Amino acid sequence: RPKHSDMMQKDCVRVAVRVRPFNKRERDAGSRCIISMVPSSITIQDPRDPQNRRSFCFDYTYWSHSGFIQDTTGKYLSEDTGGRYADQDTVFQDLGEGILENSLQGYNATLLAYGQTGSGKSYSMMGYGANKGLVPKLCERLFESIKENQDSRRCQVFFSMLEIYNEQVIDLLSRGSRAAGGLRVREEQHRGFYVEGLRTVPCETAQQVEQLTEQGMRTRTTAATHMNANSSRSHMLISLQLKQIFSKESTTKQSNINLVDLAGSERQKLSGSEADRLKEGTAINLSLTTLGNVISALADVAVGKKVVHIPYRESVLTKLLQSALGGNSRTVMIATLSPADICYEESLSTLRYAERAK
Ligand code: ADP
Repeated sequence: RPKHSDMMQKDCVRVAVRVRPFNKRERDAGSRCIISMVPSSITIQDPRDPQNRRSFCFDYTYWSHSGFIQDTTGKYLSEDTGGRYADQDTVFQDLGEGILENSLQGYNATLLAYGQTGSGKSYSMMGYGANKGLVPKLCERLFESIKENQDSRRCQVFFSMLEIYNEQVIDLLSRGSRAAGGLRVREEQHRGFYVEGLRTVPCETAQQVEQLTEQGMRTRTTAATHMNANSSRSHMLISLQLKQIFSKESTTKQSNINLVDLAGSERQKLSGSEADRLKEGTAINLSLTTLGNVISALADVAVGKKVVHIPYRESVLTKLLQSALGGNSRTVMIATLSPADICYEESLSTLRYAERAK
């Protein structure tokens, strides 16, 4: 393996911020846009104190392509006023291609979507209808590239899909796995952390992956309904294990691509009737908080700061992502936001969380 060059280390966490168009609720409420952008920098304005602005730097900042946005004075923002109207293809080129390239070289990768419920995590990751998101696009490109290179290497792809709810692991591809306590997370010296008994399905086409993903998404929704819960409170993790066998050199390369739709970042409001869910709220925050701490520690490592401890072991999510965060792995976070004044608190907290990765 190549040594960590400074370049590679600095590259290890990339962060993009994507602002979705106003939704109906926001338009009906006469919401104003409190976000402004220049390339790689985004500014949020406090709607109650317009002088109070905060700017954040990220690798990419995007408006959404499918809804033009007015600025705080009611003027429509154009590309000249900063930011880019990025469609799904652009986002894939910026974020997805690199992940794919990295994994074909034999390194692990993690793509994380973070943001308030309804801010566009699923849209960015999965997409809707013809607007395919990062996951299906990445799978399509992966299988294309496998085909293009089939003379020099043989590839196997294994697909798995799970949900972490209340620090419990649920297999989204297997109906029988909803046993009390969920599946066990185990650790082996060479393998690292893994989920015992998780179903992994060999796939040969992007269509196969797409079908499995759809099956998993349906299971996720039904599971949530059964538990009288909301699927926005769980983390969803799709893993593509790629095994490449180079016949001439008789070598193999193995890498993992992890695609994570994180639980909604909004603070959990625990009303009286939800008091028994206290544990749930804590646990969800545990995985999100720990992930934030891990990524922030990795960002420190990348800029050469001395880091004593990276707290991978403190949550299920970070255990499972351990081998695909840091080191030679590529980590990409897409933080999604509403443009609206009524989401100020949540959007500010999303930007703060994303900033810790830089
Ligand atoms: P989340 O997964 O964060 O809960 P969704 O992805 O379901 O949110 O997005 C909520 C709504 O906003 C959906 O109707 C979706 O189509 C729309 N939306 C989100 N992001 C975008 C975007 N970038 N461009 C256009 N529509 C978007």
